[in-house]
Amino acid sequence: MEAVAQEKGTLSIHTENIFPIIKKFLYSDHEIFLRELVSNAVDATQKVKQLSSYGEFNGELGDLKVTVKLDKEAKTITVSDRGIGMTAEEIKKYINQIAFSGATEFVEKYKDKEGGKENIIGHFGLGFYSAYMVASNVEIVTRSYKEDAEAVRWECDGSTEFEIGPAEREHRGTDIILHIAADSEEFLNEHRLSEILEKYGKFLPVEIEFEDKVINNPNPIWTKNPADLTDEDYLAFYKELYPYSEDPLFWIHLNVDYPFNLTGVLYFPKLKNDFQMQREKIKLYSRQVFITDEVKDIVPDFLQLLHGVIDSPDIPLNVSRSYLQADSNVKKINGYITRKVADKLSEIFKNDREGFEKKFDDIGLFVKYGVISDDKFYDKAKDFCLLKNTEGKYFTFDEYRESVKDNQTDKNDTQIWLYTNDPEKQDAFVDTAKKRSYDVLVMDTVIDPHFIGVLEQKLEKVNIKRVDADPVDKLIEKDVALESVLSDEQKEKAKTLYEGLIGSKMATVQVEAMPTDELPVVITFPEFMRRMTDMQATSGQPSMFGNMPMMYTVSVNANHPLTQKILDTEDEAQQKTLAKQAYDLALLAQGMLSGKALTTFVQRTVEGL
Ligand code: ADP
Repeated sequence: MEAVAQEKGTLSIHTENIFPIIKKFLYSDHEIFLRELVSNAVDATQKVKQLSSYGEFNGELGDLKVTVKLDKEAKTITVSDRGIGMTAEEIKKYINQIAFSGATEFVEKYKDKEGGKENIIGHFGLGFYSAYMVASNVEIVTRSYKEDAEAVRWECDGSTEFEIGPAEREHRGTDIILHIAADSEEFLNEHRLSEILEKYGKFLPVEIEFEDKVINNPNPIWTKNPADLTDEDYLAFYKELYPYSEDPLFWIHLNVDYPFNLTGVLYFPKLKNDFQMQREKIKLYSRQVFITDEVKDIVPDFLQLLHGVIDSPDIPLNVSRSYLQADSNVKKINGYITRKVADKLSEIFKNDREGFEKKFDDIGLFVKYGVISDDKFYDKAKDFCLLKNTEGKYFTFDEYRESVKDNQTDKNDTQIWLYTNDPEKQDAFVDTAKKRSYDVLVMDTVIDPHFIGVLEQKLEKVNIKRVDADPVDKLIEKDVALESVLSDEQKEKAKTLYEGLIGSKMATVQVEAMPTDELPVVITFPEFMRRMTDMQATSGQPSMFGNMPMMYTVSVNANHPLTQKILDTEDEAQQKTLAKQAYDLALLAQGMLSGKALTTFVQRTVEGL
C-alpha cells in the first residue's frame, strides 16, 4: 500500500458557490446534518459487519457503537464510527467528486424554480455535505479496514479547496469533526443534540452513544418476524412511540418485499370524536432512519388516523411533493396499506364478531371515514361496517336491509332507514317511530352526515331520514292515505290561525290528516334542508345557504280532537290560547322551547290545571 502523500486539490463541482446555496435551500432543516452523518456512520458499520460475515474481513470487529461527541470549548461536534473507513483513494472518489453530484443536481434542478425551497421539504439527502449547513470547517480522520491501510486526514473549510494528508488513527473507522459555524452555535448544546438524535436516530440499527448513553433501540419490532412477537411486545413498542397514550385497540404488522419494500406496524388508537387531534402520528422511516411524520402523500387521508411506523427504502425522499404523488411506488404503497387495513378489520369481524362490535364505537369513525373517502376501502368495508340502532344492536348493511324490509319499505319499493343524531333530544320522535315498530339507527358522530350521504349513493333503493324529518306517518309513505276529518275550508282556517300565531318566516304551516295518536301539532325538519346545514356545520365550510337559521315545518294534525276543538272554540282569545298550547307542546318535543317562552308555557299550563 502506497504511503499517503501530502497534496492539495480542487473539489470537482460545477457550481462555484455551492455552500451558500446549501445553506439557503435547506435553511429550515439544518438539523438533518446529524441524521446524514450518523446514517453514514451506521452504513459504514453495517458494511464492516457484512464483510466480516462474508469472510472478507477477518480482523476484530471490536465495539461497533457509533459515538457522537460535543466539545463546547473547541466548538466541535464529532461523529465517530468503527466502520469500514476510507482510504485516501476512496476519499478522493467518494468525498471529493461524487458526493457533490447530488448537490449540484439538486441546485440545478431547483435554483430557478418558484417555490423551489418549499418543494424540497427537507428530505433531500445531501449526505456528507449537509455538514456545511452548520460547520465552517470539516475534518475527516479515517482509516480503512483494509490491511495496512494508513490513516488519512481530509479537511475543507467550505470553499472549493480541500486538503488531504496522512493522519494518526489507531483503529479502523472514521471521525467526522465539525467545526461549528458562528451562526449555528445553537447546535453546541447537549439538549439540542440529544433531541435531534432522539428524533432521527431512535431506531437506528447500530447503537448510538451520546454523553455515555446509548440513545437508540437498534431492534425495533417492525424489523422482527411477527411470529416471534407477543401482544406485550406490540403494546410496549406503542408506549415507546407515544408515551402518554392509551393502549391501542389492535395493530397490523406490515411486511412486503415485492414489488416494493415496506415494513411497519400500524396501530388503531382509541378514536374519540375529535379525530383531528389524532392525525400525523405515523412516522416514516427509511432503513430505520427517521424521515418525517408528514405522511400525507404516502398514506391515504383516512389512514392517517392510525398510529405507528412505516419503513420503506423505496419511498423517494429527495423530491418534491407533486412528484411523490405521481410516484408509482407511492401509489402502490397506498393501495397496499389500505388493503391490509381492510383485511385486518375483516378478519377481526369474521373471527370475533362480538369483540368487533365492542370496538366499533372506537373504530367506527375510522371505518366510516374510509367508506366515505376511498372506494376500494368501501368495497371491503361494506361487509363489516356496522350500523347501530337505539337498542344498541349492531347490523351490517345487508343485515339491516333484511331486518327492516317488511316494515320500512315505502310505496316506491324504497327502504326508508331512520336515524337519530341525538337520542336524548329526539326521544319523542324516536318513541313515536318505535310505536310504528320502525327501527331507529344512532348516527351521532361528526362524520355521520357525510356517511349517510355516501350510504344513500352506494346502497340501492335506500333513503335515509332523521326521525324528525316528517310526522311519523309521512316518514315511510305507504299506499293508503289517511282521510281527513276536516273539510278543506276548515283546514284553511286552521292554517291561517297557526300562521298568525307563529309569525315566523322560517316555519311552513301545513294542516294534514295524521293518526289521532300523533300530537296535535308536530314540528319537523325537512331532511334535505337540514342535511345541508349539518354538512356545513361539520365541514366548517360556508354553505350556499349562508348561516341561515334552520327552516322547519309545522304540521297541524287535522284528525286530532284538539284541532277540531280549537276550530270550534268561538271565543277568539281562548282559541288562540289553545292553539298556542298545542304549538308549544310541539316546540317542547323538539327541545325548541326555552327562556321566556318556556316560563310562559309552564305558567299557562299550571293555570289550566
Ligand atoms: P451517500 O451516503 O448518499 O452515498 P454521502 O455524501 O453521505 O453520500 O457519502 C458519500 C460516500 O462517502 C459514501 O457513499 C461512503 O462511501 C463514504 N462515506 C461517508 N461517510 C463515511 C463513513 N463514516 N465511513 C465510511 N465511508 C463514508
